[in-house]
Amino acid sequence: MINVTQTFLPPIEEYTLILNRAWRNKWITNRGELLIELEAKLSDVLGVEHFFVTTNGTLPLQIAIKALGITKEIITTPFSYVATTSSIVWENCTPVFVDIEKETLTIDCSKIEAAITSDTEAILVTHVFGNPCDIEAIAVLAKKHNLKVIYDGAHCFNVQYKGQSIFNYGDVSTVSFHSTKLFHTGEGGAMFMRDKVLYDKVLYHHNFGHNGREKFHGLGINAKASELQAAMGLAVLPYMKTIIEKRKQLVEIYENVFRGLEGIQLVRFREGATRNYSYMPVIFKDEGTLLKVKKALEDKDIVPRRYFYPSLNTLDYVHSNKEMPVSESISKRILCLPLYYELKEEEVKLILSIITNTI
Ligand SMILES: *Cc1c(COP(=O)(O)O)cnc(C)c1O
Repeated sequence: MINVTQTFLPPIEEYTLILNRAWRNKWITNRGELLIELEAKLSDVLGVEHFFVTTNGTLPLQIAIKALGITKEIITTPFSYVATTSSIVWENCTPVFVDIEKETLTIDCSKIEAAITSDTEAILVTHVFGNPCDIEAIAVLAKKHNLKVIYDGAHCFNVQYKGQSIFNYGDVSTVSFHSTKLFHTGEGGAMFMRDKVLYDKVLYHHNFGHNGREKFHGLGINAKASELQAAMGLAVLPYMKTIIEKRKQLVEIYENVFRGLEGIQLVRFREGATRNYSYMPVIFKDEGTLLKVKKALEDKDIVPRRYFYPSLNTLDYVHSNKEMPVSESISKRILCLPLYYELKEEEVKLILSIITNTI
């Protein structure tokens, strides 16, 4: 089977060599030596300062909402993974959807102002497939209306925007290190802040509020990453350059063919941003074509994924009656094709020939 993704697994000897240190320390969680080392390395690789690694990429979104004191309406995107919306609802806030731009698939900033009410407290949006939102426009709106900005950067490992890590923008940014993501720790994630005071507060939040063994610094939850997760991260990290280079080559093969095809749309990546080749999304002219392509691939044991489908404003628990025509249309027509380190060029060419023969 050729799946949409395949987790990169480092040589097991390298993983166990690192794990041995946890065994020797008899210490497997609670900000141990391996996690501290992973954070130091990530700080260098990514160019980020106030951040910490977490047990997944969803809890940081929820912690951010809580820590920033947001309780009412949050402007958000309907085109993302469900965690972006569910985090808002889980924190008892109301998601207010604003449609996306049809070329970049990120929130359409020209439509944000019309959605702002006296209850709007924040903007929580996704840099979809590692493609940055219009960060400058969002910063202007946030300042004008006194809103907090949270970026769901789940897909953004290694993305730079205007010469620095994309995680350095907004009040809080998050990333996911889930095994389907570009860099992974099995399950995992991280949370980045510009403000050191907020960082200190949120660090307590992610560990039950503990301030030493017997004292508490306010309310908390458990979003800690274990030493087992950190060991995986330390074993995978040295391979990231090679992994990204390989994915870039594969994406170029895909895109060179797609650029010459009628009725195929590729995502337009924003200027000033580097690409990390985290996904290979392709947009067809209609849902019928997508379904035909999906079936033709599946018949050959090739499994693409409908990222992201459905459009999140149509989730039954959000009670949104506003239509999001662009997001709903893109969701029905977009497919993410197989892309992973061990995928072979011949396999990409096979996928391309199936698609060109089907559309
Ligand atoms: C994967 C993903 C998340 C959730 O990350 P987990 O680490 O799986 O909790 C959140 N937002 C987006 C956009 C994602 O793709």
